[in-house]
This record gives sequence, structure tokens and C-alpha cells, in this order.
Amino acid sequence: MGFIADRMSRIKPSPTVAVTAKANELKAQGVDVIGLGAGEPDFDTPDHIKEAAHKAIADGKTKYGPPPGILPLREAICRKFERDNDLKYTPDQISVGCGGKQTIFNALMATMNPGDEVIIPAPYWVSYTDITMLAEGEPVVVDCPADKGFKLTPDQLRAAITPKTKWLMLNSPSNPTGACYTTDELKALADVLLEDKHAHVHVMTDDMYEHIVYDGFEFATIAQAAPDLYERTLTLNGLSKAYCMTGWRLGYAAGNADLIKQMNKLNSQSVTSPATFVQWAAIDALDGPHDFIDAHNKVFKGRRDLVVSKLNACAGVECLTPEGAFYVYPSCAGVLGKKTPEGVEIDSDEAFVKYLLESEGVACVHGEAFGLSPYFRISYATSTEALEEACTRIQRACEKLS
Ligand code: PLP
Repeated sequence: MGFIADRMSRIKPSPTVAVTAKANELKAQGVDVIGLGAGEPDFDTPDHIKEAAHKAIADGKTKYGPPPGILPLREAICRKFERDNDLKYTPDQISVGCGGKQTIFNALMATMNPGDEVIIPAPYWVSYTDITMLAEGEPVVVDCPADKGFKLTPDQLRAAITPKTKWLMLNSPSNPTGACYTTDELKALADVLLEDKHAHVHVMTDDMYEHIVYDGFEFATIAQAAPDLYERTLTLNGLSKAYCMTGWRLGYAAGNADLIKQMNKLNSQSVTSPATFVQWAAIDALDGPHDFIDAHNKVFKGRRDLVVSKLNACAGVECLTPEGAFYVYPSCAGVLGKKTPEGVEIDSDEAFVKYLLESEGVACVHGEAFGLSPYFRISYATSTEALEEACTRIQRACEKLS
């Protein structure tokens, strides 16, 4: 019997965090590396939110907070859902956590029994499968390749449901593809879940990138598109991405009050609550001005267009134009089977990404980490100059393959 728990062998460190760490390590050694692995905006947190945190600290908001989250923040979250999503929640339906990641962790820990299944459309955000496995559940991964716009279809959903299905996991706009579900697409998925024989299936929707959309795309979340699913939906969101608050660690979930109570119980026995002054500042973030988001989105859109056009000019690479988030997920099918100048065969997306890092100092994440190959993910939440240079290097690397 080993000292380390068996459950630890079911999971791996987050590959996106690992790529960022590797890129930083190389940079520290003086290697010229452009990191396109991190899923975090390069913009700083807006000043009014920082000032709210300073004030909260000065006002002594430095004591333990209650496990569900402070009431004024939960009230601000209820206002957000009503304003942005036309969804009515009361504070006892809200659980606040240390980032969206922890709220997903709490929701799965609170609901999964051994063998219960979670339907996860691939490519998926890396943590859905591993948190499911930590909670002793079974990820049921459904491939949604580029020719389906990286989106789950109603037929695929119907085929994946079993008596053991507990959750369908949805993420729109998506990390890693930037794909967004329209209201009609959400309604069509909801129709499947509303069939009598599927009444046991709940939906967890991760709306972390809600505000980061382009080309006039109208964001919708499933409980809004299909009000009949409201009782069975857990709606997740957080401040990390749109508010540029990744390091503040604040996320939240809204749903059935009995489930929320169990998630709060987990908070009470683990983190207690996110930092109290962060929660006070989060109220100012949610209630405050949002014009900076449009300004950021304009910059992101310019970068998206640049990256998509430059990647499509790379031999063997094909890239869709996503409608949201700050990622692209190009296919590298066209480079498989080719050889590097050193004679190494590119036999997988992992080998391609390794080649890009070693030959040109460009760090991206291989598609296998997100459950769908052969692709790779580029985060364009970095400076336009760095993106220009990175794409030039990728193009050069592709040309060197034969
Ligand atoms: N969900 C998605 C789809 C993400 O991309 C991320 C972060 O990368 C998270 C959740 C977690 O965000 P956080 O824990 O910072 O709120």
C-alpha cells in the first residue's frame, strides 16, 4: 500500500498550467519563448475594482466570511443574473467559491457517486474530466470536431445518455475552441433533456466567457433558452476572464437551493470562503461600469482575426474563426506524417507542439489535453506583437517540415 492515495493516480496536473510553467522556466533560463498557453487576459484588473479591494481592507473586511459567500455579494450576483440573463435567483440559490474551478469541484463532489456519469463534449476544458474522476465519476466524452463547429448535437446527446448520467457539461463560449451555442442550439439540446426518460439528467453550464463575444454574437445560457430546465441547471460563472481577475480567485454558481446548500457545506469544510475583501471588491466589479469589457473585446477581436488569418497561411494548419473567448483551436492534421529537419516524425499534436517549442520557442497546448486530436490551442490573450511574431515562427516551423 503506497502512502499517496489511489485517487491521485486518476488525475494529472492541469496541462495548461504545466505549459505555462514550462514556458516561464525556459524564459528564466534566457530562452526566447513566446507563451501562448495561459488562459488569462494580459490586461490588468480595472482600477475601480482594485480601489474597492483597497477600501475593503482599510475598512477591516479582513475576517472569515460565511461559507455561502457574503450576502451583499450573493445579492449582487442575483442582480447580475437578472440583468444579463433574465434569470431570477435568490441568495440561498448562490454559492461563491475560490474561482469557477472550485465551484465546479464543489458541484461534482456534492453530486457524484461512484460510477455516475458526466457527459463532456470534446474538446473540453481540461479540468472537467479530472474533477469528475476525483469525485469518482466517469467522464463520458463525446467528440465534437471542427466540422461540427466543435458543438454537441442533439443526436449525440441522446446517444450519450444512460441511466447513470448525472450531468451534461456545457461550456459556451468554449475553452479551448471559442465556439458558442446559439439560443436555438441550446433549445434543441434542452428538448432532448426534457424528454421524460431523461428527467434524471442535470446540466452544468460554465459561462465563464459570457462577456467575451464578437461579431454581434448574442450570448445565451441554457436556463434562459429553456426555462423548463431551470430547476435542473447549475449556472456557473466567475470574475477571472472578463474582469481580468484570474489571481483574485472568485467564481460562483446558481441553482437548486438544496444542491447549493451541499456545495456550501463543502466550502465550510475546506476553504471556508474566498478572501473576504475580494468578495467586497467583486460587488463593485459586478455592479460597476462594464465599458472596459467592450474595449478589451475590440482588442481581442483584432488579435483573433490576425491569428486566424496567419494560421490559415501555415502549411498543414486549418483554423476556424471562433465567436467567443480568447482561444483558437486549429487543426494540425496536415502536418502529421511529416518530418522535422532533424528527421523526427510528427506523429501527434503533442509531437507538433513539442517541435514548435523546441524549434521556434512557441508554447501552445496540444489538443490531446482537451480530449480531441489532432489540434492545438492558442490563447490570443497576449500582446499583438507577440502574436504576430509567434505566428511568423509557426509558419516558418511548418515550412521546415517535409
Ligand atoms: N471554466 C473555464 C471554461 C475556464 O477556461 C476556466 C479557466 O481557465 C475556468 C472555468 C476556471 O476559472 P477560474 O477558476 O479562474 O474562475
